[in-house]
Amino acid sequence: MIVIYLDFDKYQYDVHSLFKAFYPEEEIMVLPGEKGSFPEKEAKITDKDEVYSYSGIEHIEKNQLKKTIYEELSGETGKKLPWGNLTGIRPTRIAMSFMEEGKNDAEVESLMKNTYFVSDEKTKLCLEIAHREKEVLKGIDYENGYSLYIGIPFCPTTCLYCSFTSYPIVSYKNMVDDYLSCLEKEIDYVAENFATKTLDTIYIGGGTPTTLEPHQLERLIGYLKDKLDMSKVKEFTVESGRPDSITREKLRAMKKMGVDRISVNPQTMNDETLKLIGRRHTVAQLVDAFNMAREEGFDNINMDIILGLPGETALEVSHTIEEIKKLSPDDLTVHSLAIKRGSKLYEVLHEKEIKGELKVPILQSINNTEEMMEIAAKGARDMGLTPYYLYRQKNISGNFENTGYAREGKAGIYNILINEEVQSIVALGAGTVTKRVYGGGRIERCDNVKDVPLYMENLQEMIDRKRKLFK
Ligand code: SF4
Repeated sequence: MIVIYLDFDKYQYDVHSLFKAFYPEEEIMVLPGEKGSFPEKEAKITDKDEVYSYSGIEHIEKNQLKKTIYEELSGETGKKLPWGNLTGIRPTRIAMSFMEEGKNDAEVESLMKNTYFVSDEKTKLCLEIAHREKEVLKGIDYENGYSLYIGIPFCPTTCLYCSFTSYPIVSYKNMVDDYLSCLEKEIDYVAENFATKTLDTIYIGGGTPTTLEPHQLERLIGYLKDKLDMSKVKEFTVESGRPDSITREKLRAMKKMGVDRISVNPQTMNDETLKLIGRRHTVAQLVDAFNMAREEGFDNINMDIILGLPGETALEVSHTIEEIKKLSPDDLTVHSLAIKRGSKLYEVLHEKEIKGELKVPILQSINNTEEMMEIAAKGARDMGLTPYYLYRQKNISGNFENTGYAREGKAGIYNILINEEVQSIVALGAGTVTKRVYGGGRIERCDNVKDVPLYMENLQEMIDRKRKLFK
């Protein structure tokens, strides 16, 4: 274990993240106070543990402290981190904010490298993305516009690695119509309170919105169209993530109602892995769903893949990329998976390992690598897709970031807006989070409860919270 004493209650999260980045396997304990002030926690410290102390924190700038710690740990380990001492999940925002201050590329580059120790490669990537984001967001009025997120928290089955609000549709089928009625009440609130604002983007996500029946999709989108002014909407996405939920009828319903961007997500193009992670669909089903969407006229289709899936090496990732190239999506989002001990997927894999059903021991098979990231990045560029948004995952060691690539003119506007946190997003449905963005970086949030029956029971309270947030 690594124990860190800070003599003032400040910067705990950043210090923890920085140590974790250098020592990913170690348990890290940050204690904001003097030695001897935490008897319960300190009882766990043994002679084997490393202890660090930093004083004068109250008067030190965060960047200065992070610089000092980075140099110390880099000297100690001989490691340089690709993202340097940046611990936040949105490094492109830093490049963007420097650009907004009027700095040119050379100045931004120098700051990224010298203040934050970001590698040449990541600095270049950040700048490329920041420029593209600026271009895509050119027509968006942050102050007088808003975006809308609607959560459909149902899926055909629950994937073993899922960290979203999702419930199996079979058990909730009878509740769906009432759930839609609740969404309609939330839409009424939006119609009343945002009438003078411009609705820029709509994103129906989840869960898997295409678990709704075609008439239910039409009911929901029809209600939106009746109540809200959609004339200025620049992008209307419906995640159709699980191919086992997609039918021609649903695609037709969405197309007819004006949806112009969908996601058909393979995660991997290897059937064996799909089984292992509990996706319960095949690669063939994915290909059929994708082709059907093209036949129905969808010309902006995103695909999500995950690197670091159990049992997958660079070979499987290459296979996935080659198969995706044949389909040629307009948008490819590359995620990294970190399977934590104690998670549902870890437990299932562990059981399989004990039974001798795994080809590779779990701990060797759940790692994303630099090589895999490069295969995916090169594959995206080969398809004519360029990176347009990026975010890092919390508490994950090394080089792991999620990157969205898109064809010219097909970048997901909503993805950039939510990532850069530059526009308010009103979120409806169970487990969703509404964000009000004020100028100057101030953001306030309000959550809807995750549990579907509780959400339905307490709907008025959810609406009142939004009313209070936007008053
Ligand atoms: S499709 Fe997505 S939201 Fe649904 S269970 Fe799988 S990971 Fe979770």
